[in-house]
Amino acid sequence: MVLNILKGYKMTFKTAFKDVEVTRTFPEFMMELPANERGIHELDATVCIGCGSCARICPNNCIEMVPFKYGNPLKNKKMVFPSIDFGRCMFCGLCVDECPVSCLKMGKNVVMAGWLRDDLILGPDKISVKRHTPQEVAALEEEARRLAAEKKKAAAAKAKAGDKKPAGAKKKKEEAGGES
Ligand code: SF4
Ligand code: SF4
Repeated sequence: MVLNILKGYKMTFKTAFKDVEVTRTFPEFMMELPANERGIHELDATVCIGCGSCARICPNNCIEMVPFKYGNPLKNKKMVFPSIDFGRCMFCGLCVDECPVSCLKMGKNVVMAGWLRDDLILGPDKISVKRHTPQEVAALEEEARRLAAEKKKAAAAKAKAGDKKPAGAKKKKEEAGGES
């Protein structure tokens, strides 16, 4: 008992006159993070196809698909991208594993304090580390329109060609169908 008290005093005297670092001030001092630390997600909006697989797999239901202007309309037809509620996220990484085009990653930024609950909901404008410029989006939209028009034209031409088939050929086909 006495020995333990003396041991305690020894420690007290040892540290009483020393400048011991007890608390590290943040954000002035940021500790080095482990290599596999999982922080705020990073999204490559130029690659995301808006499939919503990340939202469906999330066990905490914290991903919502929301509109965002700076993706690729050729790949992401609806132009919807993940928005993540970090107040609910447990950083399991399932959404990252599920992404079919590997455009979602766990980042290294772990600072996510806010005054309001909603400050922890980060949309594609906050989590995207790569996005298209408005000019690039306009060019991609133009290309999407051109491809859609081409597709429509091809479908119309195909339908027209089908209508123009000789009546005999059509009848023959119908008869063959009937025999089988
Ligand atoms: S890391 Fe896990 S909990 Fe967080 S958004 Fe992805 S799937 Fe949901
Ligand atoms: S981040 Fe990946 S899984 Fe989520 S919507 Fe985009 S492509 Fe799909």
